[in-house]
Amino acid sequence: MLQIVLATGNKHKVEEINQVSVPFGVEFVLPDEGFNPIEDGSTFEENSYAKALAAAQCEKSGRKYFMADDSGLCTDFLNGAPGLKSARYAPSADERIEKLLCALKDAKESERGAKFVCSLVLINKTGEVLNKTNGICKGKIAHQKSGEGGFGYDPIFIVENINKTMASLSEDEKNRISHRGRALMDMLMWIKCSNL
Ligand code: IMP
Repeated sequence: MLQIVLATGNKHKVEEINQVSVPFGVEFVLPDEGFNPIEDGSTFEENSYAKALAAAQCEKSGRKYFMADDSGLCTDFLNGAPGLKSARYAPSADERIEKLLCALKDAKESERGAKFVCSLVLINKTGEVLNKTNGICKGKIAHQKSGEGGFGYDPIFIVENINKTMASLSEDEKNRISHRGRALMDMLMWIKCSNL
């Protein structure tokens, strides 16, 4: 099994990604102690690279590959916001949802378009980029929350062509159609064809 450090402090994220990657022979593991990335880039990709590099720089266990994901929700009505600031838009997940619903209260149905975006970057110990993939999931912002699954903005994001909120999908369904699931699948295909 190929081990790749996933540049995150979130154990849940590692488990979620491993559900998809382990059948491909790739196991993601948490970074060593001291992982403390600064996400001040101006694109998802820049932030993703900064996280991967921070994981490579604190590596003490001899692992060779480091992958990071950076993701967020971009809305049409707010010209792309919350975007890069999705995680920090308001203090808690519920407050972030309330703030977004409030910001869109005057948006017409046709103006509620949105997309989740994910950027994955894979690097080696010296910071050389080995591969980058992106995933997008299009949809629109609901008027109220629904669904019990997922996290973050999932309860108010209605997935295009499925017409259910992301939070109403099973984990498998979400992995298949989500921005992160799509970017991850492309990355795993690349890893499988590479000589890592
Ligand atoms: P990060 O990529 O871990 O820095 O997180 C970005 C933020 O975007 C998260 O904290 C969520 O608020 C939001 N986000 C990213 N992906 C998803 C998703 O799949 N569902 C709901 N919210 C998401």
